[in-house]
Amino acid sequence: MTSVLSSLLDDVLRRNAGEPEFHQAAREVFGSLEPVIAAHPRYAEAAVLERLTEPERQLIFRVPWTDDSGRVRVNRGFRVEFNSALGPYKGGLRFHPSVTLGTVKFLGFEQIFKNALTGLPIGGGKGGSDFDPKGKSDAEVMRFCQSFMTELYRHLGEHTDVPAGDIGVGGREIGYLFGQYKRITNRYESGVLTGKGVGWGGSLVRTEATGYGAVFFAQRMLATRGRDFDGARVLVSGSGNVAIYAIEKVHQFGGTVVACSDSSGVVYDPEGIDLELLRQIKEVERGRLSAYAERRPSADYRAGGDIWALASETRIDVAIPCATQNELDAAAAATLAAGGVAAVVEGANMPCTPEAVAVLVQSGILFAPGKAANAGGVATSALEMQQNASRDAWTFEYAEQRLAEIMNSIHDSCAATAEEYGAPGDYVLGANIAGFVRVADAMLALGVI
Ligand code: NDP
Repeated sequence: MTSVLSSLLDDVLRRNAGEPEFHQAAREVFGSLEPVIAAHPRYAEAAVLERLTEPERQLIFRVPWTDDSGRVRVNRGFRVEFNSALGPYKGGLRFHPSVTLGTVKFLGFEQIFKNALTGLPIGGGKGGSDFDPKGKSDAEVMRFCQSFMTELYRHLGEHTDVPAGDIGVGGREIGYLFGQYKRITNRYESGVLTGKGVGWGGSLVRTEATGYGAVFFAQRMLATRGRDFDGARVLVSGSGNVAIYAIEKVHQFGGTVVACSDSSGVVYDPEGIDLELLRQIKEVERGRLSAYAERRPSADYRAGGDIWALASETRIDVAIPCATQNELDAAAAATLAAGGVAAVVEGANMPCTPEAVAVLVQSGILFAPGKAANAGGVATSALEMQQNASRDAWTFEYAEQRLAEIMNSIHDSCAATAEEYGAPGDYVLGANIAGFVRVADAMLALGVI
C-alpha cells in the first residue's frame, strides 16, 4: 500500500476507534485500491476515499418495548446511511445480541461496493439492533419491531432508505416492521422495505436469492477451471436463510451438501442434507439443528463442532460459509486446503478472516468474497423495488433468470477487472475495484456533497 493510502487508512482506524470489524472491512478494501488510485489521480484529488469511509448519516436510538411478563425492556437501534451516490440507501437490518455500531458500519461499508457491483441504482446502508429474537414469542417480536419502526420510519422512504432482512430478520419481522410503517405514515408505500411476503408486495425469489445467487456465482467461477457442482461434495455453514437456499441450489446443480451448522453445533449427513426436514425445523418450528440429527438416522450431530474440520475426514470440493463474520480462520483454511477443496465462496458477509483468505489464495483455491458472491439478495431486493414501482409481479422463472444474469455479470466484471489490473483470478481485488470505480465516478459527478 502506498504511504498516502496507508496514512488515510490510519486516519480511518483512529477516527473509528473500538470498531474492529469496520477496521477489518476498510483494511481489506484499501488493500486492493492502490492500482486504481495510482492510475486515476482524480479520485485522490476529490478526497473520494475520505468521503467514502465517512457515513453520510449515522442513527442510534432507544428501542423500549414490553415483554410478555409486563417488564419494560430497552434495546439499542442503529441505522447507518453510508453512501447514496448511486441510489437510496439499501441494506438489511440485523437483530442479534452482538450488534454494535461497529458491526453495522462494517456491513454498511461492504454494502456500498456490493450494491455498486449489481449495476442497479442502489446506495449502501445497514441497520439493526442488539435485540435477540431467539426465544421471544411472536407478540414480543411484534412489539419490538413496532417500537423500532416508530423511531426509524422518519428516516425511511422508497427514494431515501430501504431496509431489508439480515441475521434475525426474516419474513415475520419484515411484516411487523412494514405494518407499523404503514400505520404511522398512512401510506401503502411498498417500496420502503424489501423481503416482504409475496402476497403483499414481495418478489418471488427474494427469499431464495442470496443462497441461490452465491451458488450461481460459484458455478460460474468453477467453470473457469473446467469444473462444476455435478457430483461435488459441499460444506455449507449456518442453517438460516442464506444457508438453506444455497443448499437447495447446490442440490439442483447435482452436488451434495454433506454438512451444515448453527451456533451450537454441526450436522454431518453423508447422504446429503434433507432440505425438507431442515426447513421444517428451522423455518416452521424455529428449532435448533440438534433436532435434525434426532430425526435423521444418517446424520451425526457434533455439539460445538467445527464444520470446516470435516475436510480432513471426507472429500470436500467446495465450502460455502453462510453463517456470520470471521467464522472461518486460518487454521480452518489450512484444513480446507489440505483436503483439496477447489473453491471457497462467501455466502455470509466477511465470514473468512484476512489470514484465512491469505491461506486460501496462496493454496491456489478459488475464493469469492461476500460482497460479490452474496449480492444476489440485494439485487433481488432492487428487483422487488422495480416490481413495486410498476405495480407488477414477475414469475418465479423470470425473477430467477434475472438473478442468474446479474450474478454472472458480477462474476465477469470482477474477473475482468482483476485481469485489467494485473491480478487475474483475484476476485477480492476485482470486486473492490469494480465496485469502487462505479461509486467513485458517481461521487465525482455529483460534486463535493
Ligand atoms: P439467519 O439469521 O437466517 O441465519 C444465520 C445462521 O447462521 C443461523 O443458522 C445461525 O445459527 C448461524 N450462526 C450465527 N452465528 C454462528 C456462528 N458463530 N457459528 C455457526 N453458525 C452461526 O441469517 P442469514 O442467513 O440471513 O444471514 C447469514 C449471513 O449472510 C450473514 O452474514 C448476513 O449478513 C449475510 N447475508 C444475508 C443476506 C440475506 O438476504 N439474508 C444477504 C447478504 C448477506 P443460530 O440460529 O444458532 O444463531
